[in-house]
Amino acid sequence: MSTVRLRGGRVIDPTNGVDSDLRDVCMRNGRIVAMAAGEKADHDIDATGCIVLAGGIDMHTHIGGGKVNLARMLLPEDHRAGGNPIARPDNLLELASCGTCTPGTLATGYRYVEMGYTAAFEPAMVPANARHTHMEMGDVPILDHGAYVMLGNDELFLRMLAEREDFQRIRDYMGWTIHASKAMGVKVVNPGGISAFKFNQRKLDVDENHVHWQVTPRHVVHTLARALRELGVPHPLHIHGSNLGVAGNIQSTLDTINALDGLPGHLTHIQFHVYGTEGPKKFSSAALQLAEAVNANKNISIDVGQIMFGQTVTASGDTMRQHANADLGSPRKWIGADIECDAGCGVVPFRYRQQSFVNALQWAIGLEIFLLVDDPWRVVLTTDHPNGGPFTSYPHLIRLLMDRSFREEQLARLHPDVAANAALKSITRELSLYEIAVMTRAAPAKLLGLKDRGHLGIGAAADIAVYREQADREAMFTTPDYVFKDGTLVARAGRITAVPTGGTHFVAPDFDRSIEPILRKHWATHGSVHFDHVAIGRDELCSCCHGGRLLPTACFEGAS
Ligand SMILES: [Zn+2]
Ligand SMILES: [Zn+2]
Repeated sequence: MSTVRLRGGRVIDPTNGVDSDLRDVCMRNGRIVAMAAGEKADHDIDATGCIVLAGGIDMHTHIGGGKVNLARMLLPEDHRAGGNPIARPDNLLELASCGTCTPGTLATGYRYVEMGYTAAFEPAMVPANARHTHMEMGDVPILDHGAYVMLGNDELFLRMLAEREDFQRIRDYMGWTIHASKAMGVKVVNPGGISAFKFNQRKLDVDENHVHWQVTPRHVVHTLARALRELGVPHPLHIHGSNLGVAGNIQSTLDTINALDGLPGHLTHIQFHVYGTEGPKKFSSAALQLAEAVNANKNISIDVGQIMFGQTVTASGDTMRQHANADLGSPRKWIGADIECDAGCGVVPFRYRQQSFVNALQWAIGLEIFLLVDDPWRVVLTTDHPNGGPFTSYPHLIRLLMDRSFREEQLARLHPDVAANAALKSITRELSLYEIAVMTRAAPAKLLGLKDRGHLGIGAAADIAVYREQADREAMFTTPDYVFKDGTLVARAGRITAVPTGGTHFVAPDFDRSIEPILRKHWATHGSVHFDHVAIGRDELCSCCHGGRLLPTACFEGAS
């Protein structure tokens, strides 16, 4: 097999403690290999003046499943924008695909790869809809992918909890669901709240009872987190907390951290959960309180869900909160849905405006969180695509984090009360390239348990992005010079050069199969699919993802 040597770049590889070393990175057979100094490579690429990073990993981005398609259908204008959006691209390797807020599957792959990303994870796969989610992710070219399956609002889980079913049974049910849906982890959305909404509750706080099942979000969160640890699933419970978007929800967020009782937990799109009630508008930043809690609780990791100004669409499993937000939709239309009583779904278009006090403050809060949490290994860079803004805005976000004067210029344009009073004004920290490399590659790989991704050590997958160093970090991160996926050059200076099929990451925890009769009975009574057809087999998964490689991630020895 041919060898490639990237010569003379500045390598930043936080997983291996490498910061800005001038060194060569070599690859063969899709892996990073060691080559002797004098050894000649088949392809020699001059990387002097460049930063060499592992491929980016987006651990929370809505790229597949029912909600994403509903969002596409709800906003035809997003797909109609531009000169001739369905014209054939000038690059013969690309097929026509358009849209910005929720681009088509093909455009999703092309646009991510052009920025140097090589993997993306869909956070909200409904168990009953797992096949569709995998097929849609499989349609995304080049990127590796995986998904977290939603639990904690499904009737069976809540019933088991309410009837004080043996914990082991609940754990086995979760293990089976991960196995059947070929998931990479478990996400809980508004714990118990999506179900409570169907029983006419319009809010559910951490210690409030679900009117029908008489269980609390605290109980739901703790049970799910404990079971994942016992199953040995590397990614901790992915938590979209209670009261998303509600003024004063910082208390629910702190209560959720407390509910974990020291168990590992990942709080997602945390920006939407860090609001106080101070000031004349009774809406304020609680970023400092959140940062103190994250700094003090090493079991907690977060991704931010930064908002970006402009048009987007919010697509969430949180039917309760999306129902409440529907009146704020712009353009004014929305969809709410339920699938098999598994979870929910709400899609609301949104336009974040600089002159809106609330939106401007949300923007400032996201940045404050990035800059106030000490440990970059527990903060992942996301916009919760498309909820806070499209993923294509990442280079702009990176510049905001790395360039204080640029950040201040942007802040000055916002609603005057925010521009004058935001705590962000007094924060001087500028993130380093090393910290950005942690937040966009190394940390997500670590939090997902991916041993051979997110770094450039010998034996790692040759997923590599080479950025020409520029003072304007936005320009730098928009268009890397070279992007390699498993050793194949897939983009060169912003142009796709190859379209290999991405692989599917998933975990396969052990569980007791004697849970199956209970599930069979449940599906026979309540499901629209025969139980024997629910679980996705490995061969089927492979065909769902266009013959892409299956990438099982090892579980750790479960700690019971
Ligand atoms: Zn969410
Ligand atoms: Zn999300």
